[in-house]
Amino acid sequence: MDIKTPLIWKNWTFIKWDDTQDHHLSHALHYWSWVFEWIRFYNTTKWPKIFKLEEHIDRLFYSASVFQMNAEFSKEEIMQACIQTVAKSWETEGYIRPIMYYGTGKMWLNPTGAKVETVISVWKFGKYLGDKAIDVKIAKTRRVDPRTTDMNAKICGNYSNSILVSLEIKKDGFDEWLLLDTNDFIAEWPGENIFFIQGNTVYTPELWTILPGITRATIIDLFQDKLDIKVIQRKISPEELWNFDEAFFVWTAAEVTAIASITNEWWTKFIYNSGNASSTSKKISDFYHNIVTWEDENYINHLS
Ligand code: PMP
Repeated sequence: MDIKTPLIWKNWTFIKWDDTQDHHLSHALHYWSWVFEWIRFYNTTKWPKIFKLEEHIDRLFYSASVFQMNAEFSKEEIMQACIQTVAKSWETEGYIRPIMYYGTGKMWLNPTGAKVETVISVWKFGKYLGDKAIDVKIAKTRRVDPRTTDMNAKICGNYSNSILVSLEIKKDGFDEWLLLDTNDFIAEWPGENIFFIQGNTVYTPELWTILPGITRATIIDLFQDKLDIKVIQRKISPEELWNFDEAFFVWTAAEVTAIASITNEWWTKFIYNSGNASSTSKKISDFYHNIVTWEDENYINHLS
C-alpha cells in the first residue's frame, strides 16, 4: 500500500503531507510509547459510513489509559476529528488511523511529563485480502504472554512480536501465520482473531492471550442473532485442528477471511471447506459485509 494522504489532523489542526513534522527526540520514536486504532469507512449512496467508530475510540482511550496518557481531547472530540478528516479526504471508502503518542519532553523510560500528541490520518482502502481462501501455517514464534503486557490494549510494544512474525509470512509460500500462545494453545494471527466451525458449533479462543477484536465481538453477535448459533469461547489446542470443518480469520481490515488449510509445526496439513458457497463461514461473511455497508444513520448526520 503506497500511502499519501493530503491532509493529516494533528492536535486540532489540519497539516499538509509535506508540512508534517515530528521530532526525532519524541519519546514514542525511542521507546514505542504510542497507541493506535484501525477504523474502516465504507461507501454508501449518501455519505461514507464509519463502522463502530465509538467502539474504536473507546479502545483507543483504553489503550491510552494503559500508558497513563492524558489526552488533550475528549472521546467525542476525537470522533468528530475522525469524521472531519474523512470529509476532508474526499475518499468514499478507506481507513482512519488515529494514534496517540508521547512526544518530546522526556527521554527516560517513564514518559510522564512528555507532551501527548494526537494524530489522525485517512487513506483510501478497498479490500485487504481477496475472496480466495488462504493457506496458513502455525508460526514458531509465540504470541506475547499476557503476563508481560496488557492484551486488551492496542499499544505498539505488543506488535514487535507481530512484526517479527509478519516478516516470515511469505517465505514458505503461506498466506498468513497463526500464533500459539506461550502455553501452546491457539491464539490469533499477528493482527486478526480466529474462529472454527465444527458441525453446528462455533469456537473461538477465549479472551486472555488475544486482543478483544471489535470484529470478533460483532461476529459473535451475528452468529447468535442471525444464525441462532452460540459461540463457545475456550482454550483451543492445535490437536483439535483435525476436528473442524471450517476456519476463518476476522478483523476490521479484511472483514472475514476464509481459511483453506492450516499446517501445523510438524507439517501436517488440515484442509477446510471454509468460504464455499454453502458454507457457514460464507454466510457469516455476507452478514458482516451487509452490516458494515448498511445505510443506517450512524455518523452520517455528523458529516452534513
Ligand atoms: N488481534 C490483533 C493482535 C489485532 O491487532 C487486531 C486488529 N488489527 C485484531 C485482533 C482484530 O481487531 P479488530 O477486529 O478490532 O480490528
